[in-house]
Amino acid sequence: AGSGHRWLPWAAAATAAAGVVSYTYTGRKSLACEQKPLLVCGSLNADIIIEINRFPKKGETLSARSPDTGIMVPGGKGANQAVAAARLSAGTGRQAKFVCQFGNDSHAFKLEQVLREKEVDIGNCGRSNKPSGQAFIFLEEDGSNSILIVGGSNVAWPKDVNAFAQQIRGASAVLLQREIPEYVNEAVSEVAVKAGVPVIQDVGGEERDFSDAHLKRLTYICPNETELERLTGMPTSTQEEVVAAAKSLQKRGVKNVLCTLGADGAVLVGPDGSVLRQPGIAVPGGKVVDTTGAGDCFRAAFAVAMVEGKPLEECLKFAAAAGAITVSRYGAVPSLPERKETDALAH
Ligand code: ADP
Repeated sequence: AGSGHRWLPWAAAATAAAGVVSYTYTGRKSLACEQKPLLVCGSLNADIIIEINRFPKKGETLSARSPDTGIMVPGGKGANQAVAAARLSAGTGRQAKFVCQFGNDSHAFKLEQVLREKEVDIGNCGRSNKPSGQAFIFLEEDGSNSILIVGGSNVAWPKDVNAFAQQIRGASAVLLQREIPEYVNEAVSEVAVKAGVPVIQDVGGEERDFSDAHLKRLTYICPNETELERLTGMPTSTQEEVVAAAKSLQKRGVKNVLCTLGADGAVLVGPDGSVLRQPGIAVPGGKVVDTTGAGDCFRAAFAVAMVEGKPLEECLKFAAAAGAITVSRYGAVPSLPERKETDALAH
């Protein structure tokens, strides 16, 4: 668990077999790929991971710990959630669409290629005249990391969302995060709410508060406990405190507060004040290997289950199972769960 920036480096190839679609995992095939896609609007980064012994002092030049360090892997909260959604929807007939702003540099080419490989629909993305967003991730020997973000094309969105308004209206739900300008999130939630499309807002990655107008348009706000504390100024060290803080946030108009609690699972406070608690699910293999990306995966998984019409208890369990699998694997490619293993752990 933790706050701030979480990076899910990259998932293995999406497993959706072209042409094989079914509504459920019963194996029943259907030609109806008409299911409304999940839409993720957000950031895409070239993550540059640099292993260091220590940070250079002011004016000093140092070599990285490993000479092979500095490889680019795709990341960014938006991309992480889009790939997680695609992977968890694979085989269900539902697509994950991702709207981001590609940069104008060589990273952009590689990032685009990887998203296509993961079967994320990127047909409505824009392209700015800025470089790709980047995240420089400094990994120290004790496993701690410090991250420096360069916004690049992630902060060069057009002022309006006309170019993909149709995709917002046609989505089963929209997932937002905070590594792009707030005016984009605001504009997206405005279009979505008018069309009756649920909006799920991630909180990490930005310290500024949300506007009340935007909060009112959100179906779910999804902070972790640290972010909930920051948003409300209330303590969140016990589940009772989390519930109280969630209810105070609801007074500003947001309908549901879904707060993740790391190994302790998650708490969902509904519009009527009802509280659903999802305990953490035991990590497969019994060992937490790397918590990076668990939050992004949890939120995408919750959205996937929600748009499939599962009861909320099941959505929470599915998301917790997806989160638990993510933390059982080291970092990147292997960490994002597949649908089948997530279903198996949730049952
Ligand atoms: P964030 O990245 O936003 O801080 P969390 O760290 O709270 O998110 O993790 C998201 C979800 O992943 C949790 O709600 C939980 O379901 C699952 N998870 C995270 N850490 C663990 C763990 N150690 N054991 C089991 N599940 C975990």
